Amino acid sequence: MRSRDELMNRVIMTIAVVGPFLGLLLGVYFAWQRYLFVSDIVLFAVMTLVLAMGVTVGYHRMLTHQGFKTYEWIRGIFLALGCMALVGSKPDEWAATHTRHHAMSDEEGDPHSPLEGFWHAHMGWLFSLKNYSYAEEFAPGLLQDRTVMFVSRWSLLWTVLPFIIPFVLGGWTGLLWGGVVRLFWTEHVTWSVNSICHTFGKRAFETSDESRNEWVIGLLAFGEGWHNNHHAFPRSAFHGLRWWQFDLSGLLIRGLEMTGLVWEVQRVSLDTEQAQRTRMQAMRSGMSDLRQSILTSLGSMRNDLAAYGSNMMPEYALADEQWVQWESFHSQAVARLDAMRESIAHSAYVKRQKLLQCQREAQRMVEECKTRWEQMCRKPVAA
Ligand SMILES: [Zn+2]
Ligand SMILES: [Zn+2]
Repeated sequence: MRSRDELMNRVIMTIAVVGPFLGLLLGVYFAWQRYLFVSDIVLFAVMTLVLAMGVTVGYHRMLTHQGFKTYEWIRGIFLALGCMALVGSKPDEWAATHTRHHAMSDEEGDPHSPLEGFWHAHMGWLFSLKNYSYAEEFAPGLLQDRTVMFVSRWSLLWTVLPFIIPFVLGGWTGLLWGGVVRLFWTEHVTWSVNSICHTFGKRAFETSDESRNEWVIGLLAFGEGWHNNHHAFPRSAFHGLRWWQFDLSGLLIRGLEMTGLVWEVQRVSLDTEQAQRTRMQAMRSGMSDLRQSILTSLGSMRNDLAAYGSNMMPEYALADEQWVQWESFHSQAVARLDAMRESIAHSAYVKRQKLLQCQREAQRMVEECKTRWEQMCRKPVAA
């Protein structure tokens, strides 16, 4: 990925988004013409199930969050399957990007927060390299992990296999359904966890982000839709925490545990849930005072700034183009302050770090505005 430049990444992502969609249209057209076989549907279902498990169980719960331990060969299989799902990148890069998502959830630096727009969270973020992360920064330990590095180095093989396998087993229509339409489905279901599960659905736990539980995505994404549970207890191997929260990936992990193939499976007890609630409650009440005082100070800075520069220092006049420059700069600064207040006032939870950062930015902006005004006024206008 690092060798790619921005343009190349955009071209690749456009193909990855548009190609599978065209494949879906073609598949529907063929089906309409009764050119669809039982083997195609079976290939679609099996490829979807097996490759998605590579992402949910392998990349996500096993590699990134260390929700359980297993033999190295099972790890290798899960990671290769995750890579074959083609909904992200190599395992080390996926883990790095996802670690960054948890560290900065719904704050500046989160690669795919819907606070920057729903479509940005769904797939827009993939079109800009600044949203990609690398193991060197976010998961350096993985660079020493031989299994991860092996899968990572052979990524070209894992990229072609999910097309070759359905072609060999099902011919051209097998390739279409088991390869291309499968990719369309897995892409949008996976991306929905980032977009839908940070926008719609219920919050069972207080967390420092906008994560939600959405049962439809829970069903389609094999358990990943219980995303608020997951943000509350990231290490848990199970995202569905109640019997009715269907979590197919969790069931697979449980099955593997029963056969002795995985162990040290991370679980959330009722005591842990209670401790999380108590911790968040304490943090929230401490934070609400700080949040209120910063909102008030941003408000007064905003009013201060809005009044600044109009009819002040009447002995100095500004030339017309200076006025235009000043007004555009000034109105941008006021708008930025408004946006900061909005985002603090309307986010379900704002971290301390973000509050302090907003306050610093606002102070800097007010200072800069005043300095600029004074510099302009110091230059007397030519008669
Ligand atoms: Zn999330
Ligand atoms: Zn996660």
